[in-house]
Amino acid sequence: MAIPTYKNWIERTKQDAFHRRSDVLRLLDEALEVYDKNKSKVNKSRLSDRLNDWIKAKGDGEEWKDSRRNKKDVVQELYDALSPVREDSLKAEYTQVIRPAYVNAGYDREGALPADLSVDQSLQIDGLGSPGFVQVSMGVVNEPRDWLRTFAVAHETGHAVAYLVCQDAGTTAPEILSYNVAKRHEHLADLIGMHVLMNVHQGADVINNLNILSAWLGYGDPQHPSGAQRAELIRRFYNDRVHFNNFIRNVADLHVNLGL
Ligand SMILES: [Zn+2]
Repeated sequence: MAIPTYKNWIERTKQDAFHRRSDVLRLLDEALEVYDKNKSKVNKSRLSDRLNDWIKAKGDGEEWKDSRRNKKDVVQELYDALSPVREDSLKAEYTQVIRPAYVNAGYDREGALPADLSVDQSLQIDGLGSPGFVQVSMGVVNEPRDWLRTFAVAHETGHAVAYLVCQDAGTTAPEILSYNVAKRHEHLADLIGMHVLMNVHQGADVINNLNILSAWLGYGDPQHPSGAQRAELIRRFYNDRVHFNNFIRNVADLHVNLGL
């Protein structure tokens, strides 16, 4: 799908005089006009950011799809055409922000941290992390709230280095032999991700939005604790984060009871 031309965009998003274009829409119009004249990578990336701003202004989910501006499917067309830009931008955030934060925290050992973030095409919110491999789904790439995307990538990276973190804390990462232990790994990945993110500004965004995170993570499943349980442990960790190694030991050694 190609990016619509500015002319086509204006025609297909046009409404009557009672629906004036919002400021955030005007900024998106401008970005498309600039891109239309000069199809550079920078202009394309700015266009993607302005579209993301407009989407967030419509709501936290897919409310934008029902906007009257999308009646002729032109916003959807633009959104689909910019999908590779969103993917590249999250990959760049991994190499430029998240991975360096993990390196600074001392986890660039034994090849646990992959050089690049992998992305799979599932539109579900999903991911995978193991030593040397970190992946998130297109569902995460498409999440409009940047701090949630960052948290998801930091969490999967937490899985990748969990065994090193446990070693440093003087314990071993529990082997995933049962559902309860799998849930421990989820908590460990959350805490490690938060520990590292506290050194970059996105960590504070997560702490300030734990109720949103809790809802985003949902009810859980046999392998995943509920969002409420995960947010609660992150909150406890944040309030007592000088004792990071204690926290890790307690979770890894099954000494934390969250009704798992
Ligand atoms: Zn996980």
